[in-house]
Amino acid sequence: MDKTVLVSGAAGFLGSHLCDLFISKNYKVIGIDNLVTGDLKNISHLKKNINFKFEKIDITTDFEINEKIDFILHFASPASPIDYLKIPLETMRVGSLGTENILKIALENNATILIASTSEVYGDPLEHPQKESYYGNVNPIGPRGVYDEAKRFQEALTTAYHTFHGLDIRIARIFNTYGPRMRVNDGRALPSFICQALKNESLTVFGDGNQSRSFCYVDDLMEGVYKLLKSNYSKPINLGNPDEITINDFANEIIHLSKNDCKIIYNPLPINDPLKRKPDISKAIQILDWKPLTSRKEGLEKTFKYFKSILK
Ligand code: UDP
Repeated sequence: MDKTVLVSGAAGFLGSHLCDLFISKNYKVIGIDNLVTGDLKNISHLKKNINFKFEKIDITTDFEINEKIDFILHFASPASPIDYLKIPLETMRVGSLGTENILKIALENNATILIASTSEVYGDPLEHPQKESYYGNVNPIGPRGVYDEAKRFQEALTTAYHTFHGLDIRIARIFNTYGPRMRVNDGRALPSFICQALKNESLTVFGDGNQSRSFCYVDDLMEGVYKLLKSNYSKPINLGNPDEITINDFANEIIHLSKNDCKIIYNPLPINDPLKRKPDISKAIQILDWKPLTSRKEGLEKTFKYFKSILK
């Protein structure tokens, strides 16, 4: 295969899995990342692969890629609520300036670009489950606004490049995804709960724990992203696992899997924390012939193994 894929955010959780996926399918992969939230450890196993190249690049600055690119997977962005609080301006800039820089590269190369959008475009949704047709309920000036609005702008900008320049685009609205290579301290529920359970500490549930999420295992998501890239669908499409669970039940499931006797402690609910989230994936089923296949039990067991190995 002599096709080249550019992955932005290559050292991150999802970006590094994308590098693996496209290397396994014999593409040449160029990974770029500014390493603010990414970690080179996530791609260290690819270092010696002749089809893989990494460059430390901040896509919000001037930069050049001196190779012909066929596909772009734009996954660079902080992606955890505590990141949005710590680096709000970087979060906004990568979704806006960074996205435009990447779109220009796509245009120059006549490449197909897939952008990582998010279920956060639906905000604290008033429609349940969330269909792609739902416009969302986002507080632009709330703590999550920097991420949500950057991603909404990213969708709008990418769509404008499609309608105005004829750029070939894909928009994946990615729901909560988990698996190996999530950051131990990224503050999200899954890494926090697993690490707390493995250390025999209390699990920190925010609010009353009745809020829900729907967690998708990373391998399933990768398959969905690949199928979307290979489709010719240029409108947003939800990618996630509709298996919804409350955060209380999720915490108890993790305690049970850890075989430790941990307690749950309740901390305040962050501002604008969505009450419910579950993707309607009818479009992905119909258009991409895709649906997640990994049960939460199987996915969590694999993820536990990973966290056990790095916490040693
Ligand atoms: N959450 C929690 N304890 C934690 C971290 C998160 O109870 O230590 C809650 C959080 O308030 C939210 C849910 O778990 O309701 C999922 O949070 P996460 O940050 O993983 O993802 P997101 O809110 O972006 O969906």
